[in-house]
Amino acid sequence: MYIYGTPRQKTFGKYLVNNKIKMTKKTRLSFSSISLENKEEKKRTTKSSTYQYAKKRFGPNRQSRSFDPKNQYKNAKGIKIPSPEKGVIRIIPLGGVEEIGKNMTAVEIGDDIIVIDAGMHFSNEATPGVDYVIPNTTYLEERKDKIRALIITHGHLDHIGGVPIVLSRIGNPPVYSRNLSILMMRKRQVEFPHLPVMRENIVEKDSVITCGKIKVRFFGVTHTIPDSMGIIIETEHGWIVTPGDYKLDQVDGIVSQEEEKEYSIFDKAKVLLLMTDSTNIENEGFALPEVKVHQGLENLIRKIRGRIIIAAFASHITRLAHVVKVAEALGKKIALDGRSMKTNIEVAIETGLFQPRKGTIIPIEEVGNYPPNKVVILMTGAQGEEFAALNRAANKSHTKFSLRKGDTIILSASIIPGNELQVQKMKDGLSRQGVKIISYRTPGEDFVHATGHGNQEDIKWLHRKTHPKFFIPIHGHHYHLELHKELALELGMSEENIVVPDNGSIIEISSDGQKIMARREKAPAGLMMVDGSSVGDAQDIVIRDRVMLAQDGMFVIIALLDQKTGKLKKSPDLISRGFVYLKENQELLRQVRIIIKKSIEDAAAKMPARPNYGGNMVDFDIIKANLGESISKFLYQKTAKRPLVIPVILSV
Ligand SMILES: [Zn+2]
Ligand SMILES: [Zn+2]
Repeated sequence: MYIYGTPRQKTFGKYLVNNKIKMTKKTRLSFSSISLENKEEKKRTTKSSTYQYAKKRFGPNRQSRSFDPKNQYKNAKGIKIPSPEKGVIRIIPLGGVEEIGKNMTAVEIGDDIIVIDAGMHFSNEATPGVDYVIPNTTYLEERKDKIRALIITHGHLDHIGGVPIVLSRIGNPPVYSRNLSILMMRKRQVEFPHLPVMRENIVEKDSVITCGKIKVRFFGVTHTIPDSMGIIIETEHGWIVTPGDYKLDQVDGIVSQEEEKEYSIFDKAKVLLLMTDSTNIENEGFALPEVKVHQGLENLIRKIRGRIIIAAFASHITRLAHVVKVAEALGKKIALDGRSMKTNIEVAIETGLFQPRKGTIIPIEEVGNYPPNKVVILMTGAQGEEFAALNRAANKSHTKFSLRKGDTIILSASIIPGNELQVQKMKDGLSRQGVKIISYRTPGEDFVHATGHGNQEDIKWLHRKTHPKFFIPIHGHHYHLELHKELALELGMSEENIVVPDNGSIIEISSDGQKIMARREKAPAGLMMVDGSSVGDAQDIVIRDRVMLAQDGMFVIIALLDQKTGKLKKSPDLISRGFVYLKENQELLRQVRIIIKKSIEDAAAKMPARPNYGGNMVDFDIIKANLGESISKFLYQKTAKRPLVIPVILSV
């Protein structure tokens, strides 16, 4: 499950860049310490031209609290990982196992590598301002010539979001998936016109393909998006099975005939390894079947007299299609709001999932032309995302639509952990406008949401059905994976047959098919950040600066030094953003100016005399370093804050 959404706005990065550019343009002096034009300087300044007071031995460094350089930004580059020995099967989860999101797993057998899924997730507090994060592809980039296929289980962004960039980095291997997923990838690929064309191959759930020497087959699974499929990789010791995201098509624990039939391929199969979803491992019982949600929404659409606004994940295509069908049957018009909502409904129509009559879907601007009980509006933004349609309606910044007393909002989604506060704020904004809100927690109402991932009983059923020899839990935070391991133990698996992976773990099944274990080395697993037009795993300094700026702001010093005399030409300029309000801190600034003057002039005086130069040759790096350190220390002593200090020294 994943949401389409607007990447967060970038604030700090741009500010900084703008400032840099502005300063260098304005002065055009040879020695701007952050000049972008000076080639020699450029290398050094991209490393670091900022200072922040670090209280090394006393108390915690604030950086370490929210910025964890440990495994996030370190790569095991340079460590040579040998090819698997003959007959050994290697499994490398490259994403999705220390998190929910950016799923990707590689399977390497002999000379062939098959990659399963290439997802993304949106940035969080650890990666402020970054557009999104994709799995680390370094291991695959180093073995491009062995990659035979990228196989996609289904069209959610945590499985396809990284596809365009991942493909371009791993040699553009052929992509295999079912119809809808390929269509969704095609839509996404359009946003990357500069990248090579995707080599797409549509498969059916009963197709069999050969990738290098490996035979791969598929099976259909139930999820919140049509055309979801599981993958079976055949090996000489049995099948490697991964269902992707799934829940069971069941009612009251009785699994449907079609589902039983789909999984009956495992009855006589020898399953060597199962890798499967741990997202809902904490939830007891079976997952609520989607059909109950369809029924619940249908009841509400019939019952409610006023306008109905349904906010849902745009990726819940099956549910959205059902809503459109029901509304149409009741003679209501449907308005779509939010880019991803429109795109996904378009995709669903293109694939023939449903065919609304002409005129059923109306533009949001025309909603006012119909009586309230003749309109259903589908919106994005059930998570309170800042720029999504529903949130704009809630804070009255929506230009084409406004709420009215008597409207009913159905939040057909659960709240993703971490979004609670913004959803609460949005609900406040909505209720101020006199609308009724029905959420999946509203008691006594019909069901309006169900998860797309199996709960404990679905998971147990799948384990029993596939009866694997080995097991690797995937899709979940580490805690989820451990719980999933416990469940497998309860079901009778032995501990040595289970490996709980981290991103980048290299897991091997021995050539006789009898043992599974993780190697000591790991594949690089540092975050690959997509930030504007750049992609990479080495932007830790940029991110660190953003974290610091967000915490304590910045403080820029601009000083003009006369190289001949070694004295400042005038009192230095000071700029503070997000640190202290300058007008109210005149005394602090006065002291800062004294320190700047003393620090620069003392340092300049110590430079060795250069007789041919008519004065002292001044080393700006040393002066800046001294200045940055003494000012950041002073500011910390006075304010207990650690702003990012940027010294700029200009010379005449
Ligand atoms: Zn998923
Ligand atoms: Zn999914």
